[in-house]
Amino acid sequence: MSENGFTTTLLHADRRAGTEYGAVHQPLHPSSEYAFEDAHELAAVFQGKPGFSYARQGTPTTAALERKITQMEQGVGSVSFASGMAAITAVFFTLLRQGDHLICSKYIFGNTNSVLGTLQQFGVEVTLVDATDVEQVKAAYQPNTRMVFSETIANPGTQLADLAEIGGWCEQKGLLFVIDNTLSTPWLAPAKKFKAGLAINSLSKAIGGHGHALGGTVTDTGLFDWQHYPNIFEAYRQGNRANWGLTQIKKKGLRDMGAAMSSDTAHRLMIGAETLSLRMAKACHNALSLARFLAAHPQVVQVHYPGLASHAQHKRATDYFSGRYGALLSVELQPHIDVFAFLNRLRVLALSTHLGDNRSLVLPVAHTIYYEMGPKQRALMGIADGLLRVSVGIEDTEDLIHDFSQALSAFSV
Ligand SMILES: *Cc1c(COP(=O)(O)O)cnc(C)c1O
Repeated sequence: MSENGFTTTLLHADRRAGTEYGAVHQPLHPSSEYAFEDAHELAAVFQGKPGFSYARQGTPTTAALERKITQMEQGVGSVSFASGMAAITAVFFTLLRQGDHLICSKYIFGNTNSVLGTLQQFGVEVTLVDATDVEQVKAAYQPNTRMVFSETIANPGTQLADLAEIGGWCEQKGLLFVIDNTLSTPWLAPAKKFKAGLAINSLSKAIGGHGHALGGTVTDTGLFDWQHYPNIFEAYRQGNRANWGLTQIKKKGLRDMGAAMSSDTAHRLMIGAETLSLRMAKACHNALSLARFLAAHPQVVQVHYPGLASHAQHKRATDYFSGRYGALLSVELQPHIDVFAFLNRLRVLALSTHLGDNRSLVLPVAHTIYYEMGPKQRALMGIADGLLRVSVGIEDTEDLIHDFSQALSAFSV
């Protein structure tokens, strides 16, 4: 679409698509419904002509956001949703049917893991695998396997899936590979690099970045041939087959399930997205500095961060993301340290869930986001009781290090 780089393309996308008065942003359209001078036009939009009818299926403002995400992912089109979870559930529930089999990384976002239980109730078979090794993914194959799903860098353990190998194998098998790119963001690498057919992003995280709007997108990378995908409804097997998958996700997911993003939210997310590369660069730098500090600290048992040479997939991370390692780390303190007492001593980091925010956020994993799944499942996923997740923000580096240092100093070695 453009020969310019990631951020240049993003910054000039709105006016290049055409705006009134030379406005550098697409206007914010609050209209719920769109009216037509000619009844033929009204009918044409319902019959597939690009346009707008009712805001539950999108507005010119959400469309502008979708164009930007499509450019970031180097894809062919995107659909936006009210949250990342709405995007994920739309993919699962519109593309999988009873009797299908899904191979899914066992290192996934807790709420996505929860959705898998619902999918199983509807008769979809799910096999959880250690996706850091392509052989484990291959071993899970069944004749009814339809989809392979993985995140990039896992939260909170920071395991990095064998994405390039999995993508190559899915291509060979004709399987749909879906990547949730939220943790690394398309700035570290577009999901297309790993041959994903669909890229999902929670825009609530680093892409929006300011902790003031929720959103999600599904992007078609253009790599998957929908002609051979059996679960496309007859109504959507029409016209250019490159659009079939996204059309079904939009109609059966966005329109019917109804988790639509508002124009106001799309506008906020676009403003945030403009600085994604700057914010991520700083947050990656902060995370690496903090990870190195913590790894050398006597009160720390282990730090999980792909930028450390001790990380099991350090070399892979370097290859995939050009020497940038993301903004999330997790840390296990010495067992005698009461994590609650430690957390209550922090003065800069906020005790909060969420990630990819400008502010650094920390939380005790087993007691919060992984509480509902219980100790057995946590053990299976390698979540220690004292594990802290740190989403590193863009603060001044030394303030973050100092905050950890002063909080740890209260405890004896
Ligand atoms: C947060 C998150 C989601 C869900 O996004 P929401 O916008 O909060 O619904 C999905 N996947 C990953 C990896 C996430 O971190």
